[in-house]
Amino acid sequence: MPASDPTDDRPATDGPAADCPTGTGWRPETRLVHAGTLRSPFGEASEAMFLTQGFVYGSAEECEARFAGPAGGFLYSRFSNPTVAMFEARMAAFEGAAAARATASGMAAVTAALVGPVKAGDHVVAAKQLFGSCRWILEDYLPRFGVASTLVDGRDLDQWRAAVRPNTRLFFLESPTNPTLEVIDIAAVAAIAHAAGAVLVVDNVFATAVWQRPLALGADCVVYSATKHIDGQGRCMGGVILASEQFIQDHVHMLLRQTGPCLSPFNAWVMLKGLETLSLRIERQTATAAAVADALAGHPKIERLTYPGRADHPQADVARTQMRAGSTLVAFDVAGGKAGSFRFMNALKLAAITNNLGDSKSLVTHPAITTHQRLTAAERAELGIGDGLIRFSAGLEHQDDVVEDLLQALEAV
Ligand SMILES: *Cc1c(COP(=O)(O)O)cnc(C)c1O
Repeated sequence: MPASDPTDDRPATDGPAADCPTGTGWRPETRLVHAGTLRSPFGEASEAMFLTQGFVYGSAEECEARFAGPAGGFLYSRFSNPTVAMFEARMAAFEGAAAARATASGMAAVTAALVGPVKAGDHVVAAKQLFGSCRWILEDYLPRFGVASTLVDGRDLDQWRAAVRPNTRLFFLESPTNPTLEVIDIAAVAAIAHAAGAVLVVDNVFATAVWQRPLALGADCVVYSATKHIDGQGRCMGGVILASEQFIQDHVHMLLRQTGPCLSPFNAWVMLKGLETLSLRIERQTATAAAVADALAGHPKIERLTYPGRADHPQADVARTQMRAGSTLVAFDVAGGKAGSFRFMNALKLAAITNNLGDSKSLVTHPAITTHQRLTAAERAELGIGDGLIRFSAGLEHQDDVVEDLLQALEAV
């Protein structure tokens, strides 16, 4: 929770700073369980769910003081809420960020982080290897407001450098990328962004904060779809933006407060509980993903397989320097294109066909017909998204059951 700044004339709405442990000094796993806890006077053991739109004041004077700041305190749940504040503080402590803001979905977080820092006349550079909705914001939405964007091959640092214009204000990337799991050198792109006077926003969904810390690599802002590994059990939508206090105040704070994509306290509570088990789940899912990658690589029905934890990954060196381990996801091309991959999916007995990821259940996604269906065939081909591409997301089942299921389904191809 940021301390109130007495020179800031906006209402202080970020809740009590003092009684919210930041977790400084605790190891990351401990922060996931304890950081940010706020206890009510009842002394509840588990974090309370504050399903309330707003708050009442004991007197007119207290009401006036709260709105005037710097006393702090909650005002209205579109601005802040104790359960949401616990989730934000825990995420900030885990990520090593000074400030965090939760949002209703991952796309609300991405949108605020992309729209907040720019204005008409500015220019954005982004990797073209992006989640479909993120590409829409850059290619279709921002230009309506006079913000141009250039999409580059994120792996090619020369393309990032060449795309810079005098009015470039923001760089954006995902790494590993969705859905092909290519790896982009975050520190190198951050250096190019900063030399150009721009900020770098990183979508860290595929790596998770357990394996990759973009802020430590030089990024200015990190965004998550909490719908994925943070909930981790396929229940709730949510998102979070993490950055310095200054980045949040300058670019995100007022935009979120005044436009209202706030996380519901119920979903924040689910996410808080998800964080308690995040590192356990990610470690287990990553071990399963690595086992799947090893079992499928070189299989006669697999044409190409990409896993950031393997030595044969095209950017294995970059992956090793910026990620502590692979990923919970594996990308592979099934032989026979669309027909082959459809036969494979239809033969699965355990892994479900869906478009989510980071769930406790093992899932397969066919990007060409779902997440990247809006792109033209040529655009998909350029991104390496073939008609046989499958994105596999490891769940929490026994590793052998998952590997056996995928191998038996390949028999049907
Ligand atoms: C899912 C996803 C998003 C969007 O998150 P929602 O919670 O679905 O809004 C953004 N980026 C990446 C990489 C994602 O996987």
